[in-house]
Amino acid sequence: MKADFHKMIVLTAPSGAGKTTLVKHLLETYDFLDFSISACTRPRREHEIDGKDYYFFTPQEFKDKIASGGFIEYEEVYENQFYGTLKSEVNRIWESGKSIVFDIDVKGAINIKKLYKEDCLTIFVKPPSFDILVERLTNRNTETPASLKKRIARIKRELKYETRFDAVVVNDLLEVAKKEAEYLVENFILGKPFID
Ligand code: 5GP
Repeated sequence: MKADFHKMIVLTAPSGAGKTTLVKHLLETYDFLDFSISACTRPRREHEIDGKDYYFFTPQEFKDKIASGGFIEYEEVYENQFYGTLKSEVNRIWESGKSIVFDIDVKGAINIKKLYKEDCLTIFVKPPSFDILVERLTNRNTETPASLKKRIARIKRELKYETRFDAVVVNDLLEVAKKEAEYLVENFILGKPFID
């Protein structure tokens, strides 16, 4: 079986659906995958590392990068908080011979799919229910009440995008969701058939 590594896997989901956990799982499972580190202008969270989780840019640095054509896509995901995929990340990973995993919002995912078409698999990670998602997000304790409110409003909008992606993984039981994500990746990259 021959692997085709010049590929992209985009995981997208409403905030708190657990896509970051699935992204980490895929990166730990397959050494032919590497993570596209996005640039963003939001403040760094305590556990995050600059250059590993994100490149934390100032608003000016972000604007300069837009002006110099450095992004494949970018979005103002929350008011005054910009996130973007760097062309340099795609080049870095493909030049290393690996395929790319993205953790980005629904609009970014749709834009990347438009650009890369059959080289790109988009996976929508769906929470078991809206209430569970809100509960997870609240328990995460990373948001202020104001930003939590904004995120919840956004979740409602994002859940409507489900049908726009190549595949949907429901993140109810994490172990099942991990296996489903593995099947999708192996089928797409290694050309393995699905097992029913
Ligand atoms: P968080 O602030 O929770 O890390 O991320 C907020 C949202 O921005 C998440 O849905 C995340 O996937 C998305 N995001 C992260 N990087 C990018 C990016 O490069 N482009 C886009 N469009 N969204 C991103």
